[in-house]
Amino acid sequence: MRAKKMRLVTVLAASLALALTGCGREGSPGGGDQQVKQDVAQNVQVQGSPTFDRMKQKGRVTIGVKEDQPGLGFRDPVTNEYSGFDIEIARHIAAQLGFDPNTQIDYKPIPSTAREQAISTGEVDYYVGTYTINAKRKEQVGFAGPYYMAGQDLLVRSDNTDITGKDSLKGKKVCSATGSTPIQKVKSEGLTEPQNIVEFQRYSECVQQLLDRQIDAVTTDDAILKGYAAQDPDKVKVVGKPFSEEPYGVGLSRDDNALRGKINDILEQAASGGEWKRIYDATLGKSGSTAEPPKVDRY
Ligand code: GLU
Repeated sequence: MRAKKMRLVTVLAASLALALTGCGREGSPGGGDQQVKQDVAQNVQVQGSPTFDRMKQKGRVTIGVKEDQPGLGFRDPVTNEYSGFDIEIARHIAAQLGFDPNTQIDYKPIPSTAREQAISTGEVDYYVGTYTINAKRKEQVGFAGPYYMAGQDLLVRSDNTDITGKDSLKGKKVCSATGSTPIQKVKSEGLTEPQNIVEFQRYSECVQQLLDRQIDAVTTDDAILKGYAAQDPDKVKVVGKPFSEEPYGVGLSRDDNALRGKINDILEQAASGGEWKRIYDATLGKSGSTAEPPKVDRY
């Protein structure tokens, strides 16, 4: 009961924080969020893409996203609106594929562990949610991108002084999400003992455990952790020593090379045409950090 209440408070605080920092742009529905205005491309064709054919038939795009990662993929519990860097990338891709991001997108929150299945069964047309491109996942899904480069880091309570990096986790309780690359690294590198590894479906559950002093550190990508730190700056902090490379890709059906090529074109144009920067500045860049779009990898 108490944990539930706390979580609600956290979620409300998060939406307040976003409302305070996320001045809505003209022309975005609802306002109060961070949506970047998008021009919808006309007469788009993607020859030989079964996914695109399906989207055309529905007249809508179903996009898999995260819903509890402020700054990246976040659903406002009051307005139900999605915001964040990943959401804006997803919206930009939809618009460039010829779909109106304000009226023709259905967002589907999918946790880390369920992504490959959601993509390969066609439950989502594509997925944009802090999704690291790697060889193992490429056996099951395709990736356009990368469109962002993150790195694994640690979130600890503000009063903590003894967790200073990945090599100071022994004997500490460390939490991450099931099916993620960070939990994989904690296990494969033995960063802490097996009995000290705590897993949840969502990182927000780990953060709640950290606030409740049930665990000592949350580990995942720095971009995600910075979003949580921004919502509770007095209580938690990011250690700030990334120890992996996490190139974010757009997940899509493994064999749909036509759609992969098209989304890669869209991402390249967004990088060279200033759209990527506009999206970054309106979301992750609001905290003052800077970043460059990584080079697209057409494997
Ligand atoms: N980027 C990492 C991954 O794809 C961690 C973030 C996440 O779980 O979405 O596993």
